[in-house]
Amino acid sequence: MSAAVPPHPHSLFRRLATALVQWIDSDYCPEGADKVRAEPNRVDLVRVMPFIVLHLGCLAVIWVGWSPFAVWTAVAFYFIRMFAVTGIHHRYFSHKTYSTSRFGQFLLALFAATATQRGSLWWAYHHRHHHLHSDDPEDAHSPHVHGFWWSHIGWITSRRNFPTDYSKIKDLARYPELVWLNRFDLIVPLLFATAMWGTGALLAAYAPHLGVTGAQLLVWGFFISTTFLFHGTNCINSLAHLMGRRRFPTADDSRNSLILAFVTLGEGWHNNHHRYMSCTRQGFYWWEIDLTYYGLKALSYTGLIWNLKPVPQSVLDEAASLDHAATIAAARLASQSHPDFSFGTLKKVVPAAAAIAVATATASQSVLPKKTEHPAVHRDVTEETHPLARQEPPPPAAQS
Ligand SMILES: [Zn+2]
Ligand SMILES: [Zn+2]
Repeated sequence: MSAAVPPHPHSLFRRLATALVQWIDSDYCPEGADKVRAEPNRVDLVRVMPFIVLHLGCLAVIWVGWSPFAVWTAVAFYFIRMFAVTGIHHRYFSHKTYSTSRFGQFLLALFAATATQRGSLWWAYHHRHHHLHSDDPEDAHSPHVHGFWWSHIGWITSRRNFPTDYSKIKDLARYPELVWLNRFDLIVPLLFATAMWGTGALLAAYAPHLGVTGAQLLVWGFFISTTFLFHGTNCINSLAHLMGRRRFPTADDSRNSLILAFVTLGEGWHNNHHRYMSCTRQGFYWWEIDLTYYGLKALSYTGLIWNLKPVPQSVLDEAASLDHAATIAAARLASQSHPDFSFGTLKKVVPAAAAIAVATATASQSVLPKKTEHPAVHRDVTEETHPLARQEPPPPAAQS
């Protein structure tokens, strides 16, 4: 039996100092990364601070106000950077669903870092781990194992999920330029935020009619846009394992959702993705809108990326057969839950409805009261349902 280790009097100060250094150098880990990764899951107050700063930054809108330019900048950079998260962090670094050059991948990692979701290597390491352990107790962010809020935000605030395990992403860790970007992951977001402020200040000086200031563009273009981007992305960790339809009976509880596909530019087809993660597209059919895939396809025409991997025919055949089985099961369920309805009923109802439609279309117009002849179109409906009322002759046509 081992005795509990008494807390060091300066442990909180040490942890705070370590966290401060880690905000600059995220690979700094004096305790040893393996030891930190073995810690239990718990929200670490020091690690929560960046998220508090991000959310409090949005409140500054009270002082800086708004302008159409600032709002549209926030919207545009939400979608531009969502494309970077899904098209680069996810579909390139995590799954290698297309190819690029070494310089190309550095540019992609640089662009994706503006999303302020740590480095591409940290992102890929955690995401590959998620696919290996989806919805089992090892999964860092399963809503089924840990609850909704842990899967949405809690897991990122836990110290154990902070270090990047480079031994699990050796194919990426052999590029020192990528490791460098991953290690100093605050540099690009800081430059991005500074660029927002600088652009706003320039516009205030040279295009005052836009009503933009440096602080206003910083709040909208960085804080608000990045906060929405953070929650939009994390919907895939939380909601995409809770809401939507399951086409493939995967071992996890991943789901397909059109709503999440719009919010995340195609990541909502999460059940498709868990079934087959090595293809570039996640919407397997034209009606499964996947804007990230269209963007990557367009990017492939520039020559920056190539070799986009298709959905294998065997997976499409499996999807077709499962969809067919699901349609039959749904019809069967409908006939059970509505006993009056069955295919037999349909056979009787359809010809009868057709006969009624033909009879109505060929009926003498003189029998049917015309609006001009019979203005009481909003009459009491009991007149229509009462058997005696139906036997009454139609009102005489008005004489002109
Ligand atoms: Zn998942
Ligand atoms: Zn994935």
